[in-house]
Amino acid sequence: MKIVMIGSGYVGLVSGTCFSEFGFQVTCVDKDIKKINQLKQGKIPIFEPGLEALVEKNKKAGRLEFSSNIGKSVKKADLVFIAVGTPERRGDGHADLRYVFEAAEEIAKHLNNYTVIVTKSTVPVGTGRKISKIIKKIRPDIDFDVASNPEFLREGSAINDFMRPDRVIVGTNSEKAIEKINLLYRPLYLIEKPVIFTTIETAELTKYASNAFLAIKISYINQIADVCEKVGANVHDVAKGMGLDNRIGSKFLHPGPGYGGSCFPKDTQALIKIAEDLGGEISLVKEVVNYNKIRKSEMHKRVVSALENKVKNKVISILGLSFKPETDDMRESPSLDIIPPLIKLGAIIKAYDPVATSEAKKVLSKKILFKKNVNTCIENSDLVVIMTEWNEFRAITPKTFLDLMKGNIVMDFRNIYDPDLMRKKGLNYFSIGR
Ligand code: NAD
Repeated sequence: MKIVMIGSGYVGLVSGTCFSEFGFQVTCVDKDIKKINQLKQGKIPIFEPGLEALVEKNKKAGRLEFSSNIGKSVKKADLVFIAVGTPERRGDGHADLRYVFEAAEEIAKHLNNYTVIVTKSTVPVGTGRKISKIIKKIRPDIDFDVASNPEFLREGSAINDFMRPDRVIVGTNSEKAIEKINLLYRPLYLIEKPVIFTTIETAELTKYASNAFLAIKISYINQIADVCEKVGANVHDVAKGMGLDNRIGSKFLHPGPGYGGSCFPKDTQALIKIAEDLGGEISLVKEVVNYNKIRKSEMHKRVVSALENKVKNKVISILGLSFKPETDDMRESPSLDIIPPLIKLGAIIKAYDPVATSEAKKVLSKKILFKKNVNTCIENSDLVVIMTEWNEFRAITPKTFLDLMKGNIVMDFRNIYDPDLMRKKGLNYFSIGR
């Protein structure tokens, strides 16, 4: 079977590469010619653990290629996946479907034989039907089906998530499409991963419902953490006690500076709009979106308070810039909310991230002193903030902080250190909900 992946970003590149690893012939397409040229030269435009080796392996085996020519690739395809971005539309919070519809038009022009067009992008309910209409209008002569196959991989563990997913959701009403998609996911049947077939609308909604639920869970534990701080409880023990209840589960009960990333903020916002367009309301999600915005925008106040309001000319070191470890993705990262107000208050900001520095430079102030390692970042600082829980930060000892820093305040917004040890060794240590 020949597969074409339209969009070679975090989702398209990983999904395409994994399908080629399953043994299929895959062409990853992107309109960004620079990206495609990089990929042709063996350079991976994003940071994703394990991806480079898997791309190389499948390229060598002749199963994976890259192209900026949609037409040539689509002509020979059995399945064409749409994996382009669906960012938040400026001004109104709806998902911006411009790239999805552009891709659908491009695909339609070049269809040759019966083809299944599958959306992997996260799209509002009803988008599959709209794609179908677009294609029918441009190519009334061609036999095709549309399916929805939302992607649930997480950046940082994307390959494993794709190869060993909790579930695969496929929405389609066509037996012919089911047959092809069943073949595609056969390797997952063999390892007993559930592949669930539904209607297109159900599949589209399942993705938003899942992401919004996780956003609610994170916000809930953040609010519980706030209560813990007031009553002297330990949020990790509370979370453990909650998570051992199978009805609740232990995942996504880790407090922090508010959720960010390429998906939760825009998907929660889009779900609110989906409900509003239908004359309803998802008030729980609305509340969470507002709460999370406030949480992110107020985290810097904890730093200001630890410095007793004397921020001007204080040296603040930020460890971690990406929205989570093992990715260079800066989209909606909490670091984007905490750094600007501190600069405004006159702080001198030093920052270090193991992989996200070049992405961070595109979206953060030129005033930031970007450093190449932990030590040069924290030396001579008054205060250190842990923004992303990269593994290499876990190994920093209290002695290292004390030897290198000018001051002794460590604000750990990811709770990666032992509070008792940090305090016993002489650090003025703050974490979340403990
Ligand atoms: P991305 O921005 O990393 O990649 C999108 C790519 O599509 C870009 O390289 C862009 O150049 C390309 N593109 C846009 N229009 C095109 C066109 N007409 N033809 C060819 N290429 C085109 O986005 P992403 O993070 O991979 O997300 C893609 C979709 O997957 C989104 O809907 C997102 O919500 C969803 N998703 C993302 C993740 C994640 O962790 N990033 C996880 C699950 C689902």
